[in-house]
Amino acid sequence: MSLRIYTERMIPVQLEQFGWNDFFESQLSAGPAGIPGRVASANHGRFLVWTGCGETGTGEVDASVSGQLRKPGALWPAVGDWVILRIDDAVIDRVLTRKTCVSRKQPEREIREQVLAANIDVLFIVSGLDRDYNPRRIERFLVMANESGARPVVLLNKADLAPQLNLDLASLVAGVQELSPAIAVLPISAKADHDLAALPAELAPGETAALIGSSGVGKSTILNRLLGHERQRTTEVRASDSRGRHTTTTRQLFRMPGGWLLMDLPGLREVQLWANPEQPAGNLAASFDDIQALAANCRFRDCTHNAEPGCAVTSAALDPARLANYQKMQKELAHLERKTNPRLAKETRAKWNAIEKSVRQHPKREP
Ligand code: GDP
Repeated sequence: MSLRIYTERMIPVQLEQFGWNDFFESQLSAGPAGIPGRVASANHGRFLVWTGCGETGTGEVDASVSGQLRKPGALWPAVGDWVILRIDDAVIDRVLTRKTCVSRKQPEREIREQVLAANIDVLFIVSGLDRDYNPRRIERFLVMANESGARPVVLLNKADLAPQLNLDLASLVAGVQELSPAIAVLPISAKADHDLAALPAELAPGETAALIGSSGVGKSTILNRLLGHERQRTTEVRASDSRGRHTTTTRQLFRMPGGWLLMDLPGLREVQLWANPEQPAGNLAASFDDIQALAANCRFRDCTHNAEPGCAVTSAALDPARLANYQKMQKELAHLERKTNPRLAKETRAKWNAIEKSVRQHPKREP
């Protein structure tokens, strides 16, 4: 499959180099005609779109969005999206259905999805081996990756600090591997340029990866090393708490040597989960298959693994911190489901109305 664009003033460029494939091509006939392109960065309602047209190789177009896309419920473009452009007035008319979508719940109180990155094949979950290292945060990112549809790979960066910090690298790797045996865990050192070749090996040409993690874990340093030149400003980490100052504020797609693509995401202070309202707990279960396997033997089908009799999970030799993290995310997703699933919201309202009515009809008697 090869999509080429020919017009008088354009040279043909294969869009596969930006990640175009059959999945997107099959959607072309179903909407308004135009030029397909990939959103490489976004800034306050303006989008830099790679169309492959023109003489620059990427055919960058600075685009806005159509009135249709501004209506409530329309899909707003995110970095990584494939869109259809009206090329003459540089307007995005349509966002193609995403293959994968990395999202979180918006940090504000309002219950809304925030799409961090679209059409990501591999999600590099970056953790620094200094004070940032936290298996519970890695677990949370793994749930997020499973929900997105991208393949997670865990990067333990700053491995050069292991001797100085008295860390046993092999047992740290084994510990992360235990969280999810099927995923790759790569100890690397971006600063010392150690083992970074393992990253491109995870991707085929035309595939897209994203770097996700807290601020200061080394995402920009990894990107710069892999690019072979400085593209993002990095900051010195505060010695007191190993946190970097927030410098990586925008999302941007980069074309990497070897023909793959890499997106740097801003450091995330807070990662609240987002899930498909139809199946909110599905991907949590998939990320904790050890707990799921045990839960099959609980006496009660809806056991919450707190204090129920006959609970097979609490009586197993499971890391209590892992179970507590699971339960915390389970509660978070149940809350999200109550807020986002209209059927459940209606049922919950009806249940409370019935309770209130019953309390009104049977007031508590004074002793
Ligand atoms: P980001 O906020 O995740 O993009 O982190 P940066 O790439 O800005 O890195 C934060 C700090 O960590 C900088 O001072 C980097 O020099 C440092 N750093 C990044 N990678 C490594 C590494 O592999 N080893 C060590 N020791 N420091 C690193």
